[in-house]
Amino acid sequence: MGKLLFWAILILAALVVMRIASRKASERAVPPPAPGGATAAAPETMVRCAHCGVHLPRSEALLSNGQFWCCEEHARLGTPP
Ligand SMILES: [Zn+2]
Repeated sequence: MGKLLFWAILILAALVVMRIASRKASERAVPPPAPGGATAAAPETMVRCAHCGVHLPRSEALLSNGQFWCCEEHARLGTPP
């Protein structure tokens, strides 16, 4: 009987400790500041190759003569007739 009482008290104590810990955690919880602002989450601009018309991210495109190209070969070939 003593063993059962011991476990009952132990479980009760654990529940109390968990409740206090969760309350402290919720009190400490503050909205985290957005790192880098909105620009970091913004989707990248898609550009169109002037030769073949394929769409690719702005950072992967080649800019030549004021137009975007998917590869160096298409930049060299220029716009199709
Ligand atoms: Zn292309």
